[in-house]
Amino acid sequence: MSNPSLLILPGDGIGPEVMAQVRRIIDWFGDKRDLKIDVSEDLVGGAAYDAHGTPLHDDTMAKAQEVDAVLLGAVGGPKYDVLDFSVKPERGLLRLRKEMDLYANLRPAQCFDALADFSSLKRDVVAGLDIMIVRELTSGIYFGEPRGIFEEGNERVGINTQRYTESEIERVARSAFELARRRGNKVCSMEKANVMESGILWREVVQKVHDEEYADVELSHMYADAGAMQLCRWPKQFDVIVTDNLFGDLLSDAAAMLTGSLGMLPSASLGAPMANGRPKAMYEPVHGSAPDIAGQGKANPIACILSFAMALRYSFDQGAEADRLEAAVAKVLEDGVRTADLLGEEGVEPVSTEGMGDAVLAALDASL
Ligand code: NAD
Repeated sequence: MSNPSLLILPGDGIGPEVMAQVRRIIDWFGDKRDLKIDVSEDLVGGAAYDAHGTPLHDDTMAKAQEVDAVLLGAVGGPKYDVLDFSVKPERGLLRLRKEMDLYANLRPAQCFDALADFSSLKRDVVAGLDIMIVRELTSGIYFGEPRGIFEEGNERVGINTQRYTESEIERVARSAFELARRRGNKVCSMEKANVMESGILWREVVQKVHDEEYADVELSHMYADAGAMQLCRWPKQFDVIVTDNLFGDLLSDAAAMLTGSLGMLPSASLGAPMANGRPKAMYEPVHGSAPDIAGQGKANPIACILSFAMALRYSFDQGAEADRLEAAVAKVLEDGVRTADLLGEEGVEPVSTEGMGDAVLAALDASL
């Protein structure tokens, strides 16, 4: 079998800084676990604009379509704010998502015990939390037609349309059920079937996909507003939540805050299965390019490291090694190693981006 392939796109700002630590970890897995990954690297965002006058070169796009997974750092920065909309760094990211047709956005909300006090909720509500929100990413109200601001009589009306086809619901439901099978085997589907026809269809289709293909997975349905309350009340009742683009946008941001810092949050966007049976995939930290701290060696690399752990699990079929990496991160945090964004406890001196990388590598060594 050939090695899995990974295209790394470090991007702008702190992107290259956090990615440098991930490169060290990839090398560690190659040396110490004989897990060889064919890594290539290219430009995206402002860095690509500087080199090629476009935030994503066609050759880079073509490479992204060929590899088993893409790992992206972050794009953007004040230097590029003046650019025309069509060449802004974010367009590079959006092009990747669109052309790879990444319709399922996975946002884990995982709370490491050592960081439970960073949450705005009580420690026992969030400590050890591990849930996954699967948000439909390419359809729904952000894309539906008609849309716009129109004249109606003597006033204006703003219109957006929530629209879902059965096949769009089926494919994201399958992503959620597949994920659940690798985790706690439970899916909760959220919509507003009480007041929206698109919600009625959503519920029916998710139930049908379940009954016909995933009867072994436990399925429940919840109205999205009730789901928001339950996420704050007792989030540990959930394993995988699947929901549409709009509700997923809100619920995943709310769930993210259960866990504390932006520097800790990984994500994945998955598309249709490729010839090898695994989905098209792009992994990236939730945070942006953090221009306020870029170049200072202060960035927390953990979100990017955990994004790579997701790639190990979902693209490279290396669940045990993903567990090893996540456990190494947990150990480092238990030992009190903190980058500047995680400060709060008295008497703790922050480590640099590289210092956090050193600590994770030492914890990986200790895991052997
Ligand atoms: P941001 O996520 O870059 O930063 C928000 C705050 O969190 C900043 O104070 C930053 O220092 C801090 N922060 C973020 N990541 C951190 C990390 N790993 N370690 C320590 N601290 C961290 O969001 P922003 O400031 O709104 O946006 C900055 C730029 O990033 C903009 O150009 C924006 O368009 C872009 N952006 C890109 C992405 C992406 O590439 N996916 C996402 C969001 C924003």
